[in-house]
Amino acid sequence: MRTKIVAGNWKMNNTIEETTTLIKELQIALKDVSLENTRVLVAPTFVNLSRGVENAKDSNIEVVAQNMHQAKNGAFTGEISADMLKSVGVVSVILGHSERRTYFGETDALLAEKVSATLDNTMEAIFCFGELLEDRKSGNHFSVVESQLKNALFHLEAAAWKNIVLAYEPVWAIGTGETASPEQAQEMHAFIRNIIKEQYNGEVADAVSILYGGSVKPANAVEIFSKPDVDGGLIGGAALNAADFTAIIKAI
Ligand code: PEP
Repeated sequence: MRTKIVAGNWKMNNTIEETTTLIKELQIALKDVSLENTRVLVAPTFVNLSRGVENAKDSNIEVVAQNMHQAKNGAFTGEISADMLKSVGVVSVILGHSERRTYFGETDALLAEKVSATLDNTMEAIFCFGELLEDRKSGNHFSVVESQLKNALFHLEAAAWKNIVLAYEPVWAIGTGETASPEQAQEMHAFIRNIIKEQYNGEVADAVSILYGGSVKPANAVEIFSKPDVDGGLIGGAALNAADFTAIIKAI
């Protein structure tokens, strides 16, 4: 059975106090929620990771990073390495979020290096990808998604995929209030699973968790998560509110 995952990407939000409060609120809200076969992840900003890990200790919440540099160390001002993340207890990292691609110029070639660095350091990569509105309007969404996967991930050996989580996030649905319909999400997730099967094998394709991201809210989560190839969600705005994020987790 594939692992279900609900991940909250907090982006550049929350001071250290707000991070502590939100994790505490989530811990209380999730105390009696059965999370069988389900992981709950939150991604605070870098400076709050260490405190977040302490806060989440002994709970069913995992703290993950929003980004990582591909080099081991060196003259890369402002960047964070795998060793630094691991030294504060973080072993999972979101890579390739559309905001990283759009505002910080991250390309699939760079992301291929970041994914490899993550896996070489025995960490997990939560790899984000998805088409722009113009790609969907022109009917190119499947080929765009296929090339993102091919260029950033298909250099990996089959065995490496046990440490990969995919997050399909159509860019037109991120932070816009516009969600892909459950049918659009299912159609794309099934397509993704199929190209992984063709590239690798059915075992790899069946095992990889594919999350949907893009304006998931308590009101639409049940329907989106009900689709057979949707294994959870990557949540932005709604993950900043404990009640909303908990409601989304309960929808899984
Ligand atoms: C995201 O940033 O990954 C995201 C899905 O944001 P939102 O839920 O706000 O659309």
